[in-house]
Amino acid sequence: MQAEIKEVVIVGAGPAGVSAAVQLKRWGLDPCLIDKKTKAGGLIENAYSVQNYPGLEQPLNGIILSERMNDFLKSNKIKILNGQVQLVEKKDDLYLVHLEGSVLFCKNLVFAVGTRPKTPSENDLKLIKRDRVFYEVAPILRDYNLHNKKVLIVGGGEASLDYALSLSDVMKEIVIIIRGSFCRSNQILKKEVESRKNIKILYKKTLQDVINEQNFDSVFFAIGRESILSEIKLNFDISVEKNVFVVGDAKTGSLGQIGIAVGDGLNVARRICENCIQHTRE
Ligand SMILES: Cc1cc2nc3c(=O)[nH]c(=O)nc-3n(C[C@H](O)[C@H](O)[C@H](O)COP(=O)(O)OP(=O)(O)OC[C@H]3O[C@@H](n4cnc5c(N)ncnc54)[C@H](O)[C@@H]3O)c2cc1C
Repeated sequence: MQAEIKEVVIVGAGPAGVSAAVQLKRWGLDPCLIDKKTKAGGLIENAYSVQNYPGLEQPLNGIILSERMNDFLKSNKIKILNGQVQLVEKKDDLYLVHLEGSVLFCKNLVFAVGTRPKTPSENDLKLIKRDRVFYEVAPILRDYNLHNKKVLIVGGGEASLDYALSLSDVMKEIVIIIRGSFCRSNQILKKEVESRKNIKILYKKTLQDVINEQNFDSVFFAIGRESILSEIKLNFDISVEKNVFVVGDAKTGSLGQIGIAVGDGLNVARRICENCIQHTRE
């Protein structure tokens, strides 16, 4: 039996992948949207309060925004194919997308795979028990056994402050340590953190400094993110492929913004549609 050839496969159902999928569907293409999680939303479910995405009448929690993204897919009749892509091969003009136990064939491929957290040095990791180390808050917010504790957050950017706000609602005490003398965050977020009685920010501190002085039940690292695309094996050079696209945070290689990811997804969908229309004319 001949394998079905899909016009477009999108890997990753975060904001970038979802916006690309819906736009392609509206143009009459039937994209296949894959994610290793069963639901759409990507990193968004970790956001305490999204305030900068146009169209929101008021700040919206990331879990709720993720749910809306899933509803958006449903109303556009797009299902997520659950699976982790580990290998993509090029054969002739087709891409073979390998999932556990199956292979999809496609003409166009969109990587909307986002980022993974940067990890601390081995020396820093030796200071903490491995089962107490976390990089995202969403799983902890769902686990009541881990609530009402004293936690440490390492990092001086917006993600670190955002994590603190999420955890402040469920934890007893939160300490943020920042290596330098200021945090790289917008003022609204910073003021909100400073207004919380159970959050303390310590500047010019290392992990070693605080671990020697205080006990923590868990430690969250928010020390930057990097593209996760390198984890997928490819037998071709992505930079010269005309029908392979990288969008969203995976493209910038760091933590970005929902709006940028959505715009990227739309832009690539438009390019794919234009190519398809041109091919039909030829
Ligand atoms: C704490 C926090 C707060 C934030 N707050 C805001 C905010 O207020 N406003 C704002 O604009 N932005 C915010 N962001 C940033 C925003 O979440 C990201 O910029 C956005 O989610 C990037 O979208 P993306 O689609 O590129 O990637 P992601 O959202 O990371 O989605 C990538 C998807 O790809 C899937 N995937 C990865 N690898 C594979 C694979 N091999 N196979 C199958 N699936 C795979 C993942 O499961 C994931 O669902 C915040 C981020 C964090 C961490």
